[in-house]
Amino acid sequence: MLNKGNASESICRVCGYSDGSIRWEYFEGVLYSQFLICDCCGAESGYEDCLLTAIQNYRREWLESGTKWFCQKSKPENWNLEKQLAHIPDDYK
Ligand SMILES: [Zn+2]
Repeated sequence: MLNKGNASESICRVCGYSDGSIRWEYFEGVLYSQFLICDCCGAESGYEDCLLTAIQNYRREWLESGTKWFCQKSKPENWNLEKQLAHIPDDYK
């Protein structure tokens, strides 16, 4: 299991985006995926972000294909890719 912090996660492991929704819920010692699709990169928690290699592959493909938003209307007007990527926890880089 990738999560070492024993805490729920709201930041996308792939792209660093967060709207505050819980993607992985930590409850009584177990981490549960909420199967949330990221508005930004389109990765689904519990599906595309379970393994570090899968996270890195998905991220590379997303970056190489032009960082298209899965849900265009969620994209902030002043969106900054570099700042968002900086939010990715070290364990998932
Ligand atoms: Zn994402």
